[in-house]
Amino acid sequence: MSYMIMFRGVSRFLRTNPVSGQRSMSQSSLDGKVAIVTASTDGIGLAAARALGKRGAHVVVSSRRQANVDKAVALLQSQSIRVTGTTCNVGKGEDREKLVQLIRPVERSAQEGFETHSSVWSFSWAPFFQTLMWTALVKSFQGASFCLMRGKKTVDQCGGIDILVSNAAVNPFFGNILDSTEDVWDKILSVNVKSAFLLTKLVVPHMEKRGGGNIIFVSSVAGYQPMQALGPYSVSKTALLGLTKALAPELAHGNIRVNCVAPGIIKTRFSSALWQNKDVADEFKKQLSIKRIGEPEEIGGTIAFLCSDEASYITGETIAVTGGMSCRL
Ligand code: NAP
Repeated sequence: MSYMIMFRGVSRFLRTNPVSGQRSMSQSSLDGKVAIVTASTDGIGLAAARALGKRGAHVVVSSRRQANVDKAVALLQSQSIRVTGTTCNVGKGEDREKLVQLIRPVERSAQEGFETHSSVWSFSWAPFFQTLMWTALVKSFQGASFCLMRGKKTVDQCGGIDILVSNAAVNPFFGNILDSTEDVWDKILSVNVKSAFLLTKLVVPHMEKRGGGNIIFVSSVAGYQPMQALGPYSVSKTALLGLTKALAPELAHGNIRVNCVAPGIIKTRFSSALWQNKDVADEFKKQLSIKRIGEPEEIGGTIAFLCSDEASYITGETIAVTGGMSCRL
């Protein structure tokens, strides 16, 4: 009898505690989750948003330029992904606040049923409305920013934050590390490291309210093995490996897992100097086991995996997605 009571207690604990190993029928499903992905209008961020959205999450995409946000929102909507978009330069405190507070207007407008907003786009797909309304809306609101939400569904799906993918980074400097200036270091550390931490600090209380969550930092293979001419950037990416380790034990108490991905050379605008020129690309490929440049989707998939229940026992970890580029044991 006492064994039965103990067994029931343990299984209830496992069902309700994600970090201690929640398992469900569909472990990769992110239905009902809300995911903020920074720098997500292109490249790896956009691929991560798509991967999370395809698994059922409502994704919040952002970057500095409204035109890029509008384009990404339209693209993800056309792939039947629930998406909200806003501008956010992660290096600016007020932008980070706005990004996180986005859940409030979403909550309010959902209760009111319908609201327009100057810099937010959102749409809750329903198959019947999809064809009828989308064409009409695109035509009538082209170029303008608006927000459209319907019914309780949006409250359910946007009334909190479950996932943060901190993906934004800059690299304003190429050259010998000793030639880099204080301004270069301030910019790189502020955007690549400090904003990742400060955004984490902002989302944690919201995740705790939801009973847990996932934080993913996007580092780089350069975080393990500094790249020539990319000294300050490489150091900032090493810092993210440390940040992941520093946060994971503290946030595990709130059922929040903290992990990191370290991409190798991935085909995006950011790395175009490394793959657009055939000779340079061929030289890089010599260092790889898989002799091709990676695709953003290959990072997006890894991020979605880390956010899923299939990764429920992984925290404080960095996954190198490099096509076998040697960077650590
Ligand atoms: P990307 O394709 O060039 O995309 C950059 C995105 O970041 C765009 O959406 C851009 O949009 C946005 N962005 C730039 N500065 C921003 C800021 N301050 N605040 C918010 N958004 C900003 O770049 P990517 O290659 O996907 O890089 C994404 C991440 O992967 C970075 O952390 C990078 O270090 C890392 N990574 C990339 C590679 C690679 O080979 N591609 C390898 C290792 C690591 P706006 O212009 O509208 O802001």
